[in-house]
Amino acid sequence: MIEKKIYKMAIIAGMILPIISILGNIFADFPLIINLKWFAIELISIMAYFFNRNEKYVEISKFIFFLVIIVIIVPFGYIDSGGSNNNSIGYIFVLLICVVYLFKGKQRYFFSILLCGIFIIMQLVEYHFPQIMRVYSTESQFRDRMVQIPLLLFFSFLMIRHFSAHYEENKDKLEKANRKLSYLANFDALTGLGNRHYFDMKIANVAKTHDKNHTYLAFFDIDKFKDINDTLGHSVGDEMLSGFSKAIDELIEYPHLLARWGGDEFAFLYVGEEEDLKALLENFRQCYAELADQYGIKTNISIGVVKWGNSDYQHLFARADKALYEAKENQSEKIVFDH
Ligand code: GH3
Ligand code: MG
Repeated sequence: MIEKKIYKMAIIAGMILPIISILGNIFADFPLIINLKWFAIELISIMAYFFNRNEKYVEISKFIFFLVIIVIIVPFGYIDSGGSNNNSIGYIFVLLICVVYLFKGKQRYFFSILLCGIFIIMQLVEYHFPQIMRVYSTESQFRDRMVQIPLLLFFSFLMIRHFSAHYEENKDKLEKANRKLSYLANFDALTGLGNRHYFDMKIANVAKTHDKNHTYLAFFDIDKFKDINDTLGHSVGDEMLSGFSKAIDELIEYPHLLARWGGDEFAFLYVGEEEDLKALLENFRQCYAELADQYGIKTNISIGVVKWGNSDYQHLFARADKALYEAKENQSEKIVFDH
């Protein structure tokens, strides 16, 4: 989890920063007493490090860790290092990044507002009681900045880079999962054809862009398909459904639409001339006959076709359903055309 990693980074930074800062303070000629806050940070970071190893205490120790830093160490360090002349604004930013990444909901707001409040109070205290702020030479302040500013920037860089890498990685995963979900919602797993939902979605487009007097809807259904399952087994039934779908799908192209309507029933939207459609539907039956022949089956498919014309959706589908029903009932005419 990203939060755990960032918290661990914050704790490790809390253990490393004090050491570098103490060395920097010695280099900048600050009095040793200025390091008190760094010792305190070192101490609570080591404590947080050990509590962080026990799952039970992670959340509470994280909360206490930041509370102590914001409420005690920040104000103390602010006064001790010379008020607004020091690098406090940089630390406030780093702390803000940490609490926004590491806490959620109310705790996130609580720490962000607390941080802002503490900083405003410190400014007020400095303004009204400047005498309580420690004073250092310009030279010492300069040397201190030369150490602290690169350190702060480097630490912020590490945290933000970590978060952004995690975000990129998750974005890719999410996009992949969304593509997969969208495929599963629109396409049939067995045959690879669009499903009913896909057909419903696409049919509106075809209707908008093509002449409805040259648009036809066909429903077709495999005859006695249950018998195939019962006699040859369900897996042969599956093979026939996918083999047939693949064969007829190869015969059609845009803007024609083919979908598995459900079970052994298919929906087909055709744009073009009636004669060509009739030939194509005969081809569909031929495809099925050839496939069925390989399994010693002599049945075929029944097809009901309607011209779209002035029908609304509901009426169009009801007409196609009725035409299919008639084709099913009819023993000799297996393609029933309703104009
Ligand atoms: P009819 O001639 O009236 O169409 O009769 P039929 O036996 O084909 O029965 P019907 O169309 O009412 O039922 C379709 C059958 O298709 C029922 C079900 O067992 C089978 N079926 C539906 N989906 C699948 C599938 O994904 N794989 C297999 N193997 N069989 C399926
Ligand atoms: Mg059937």
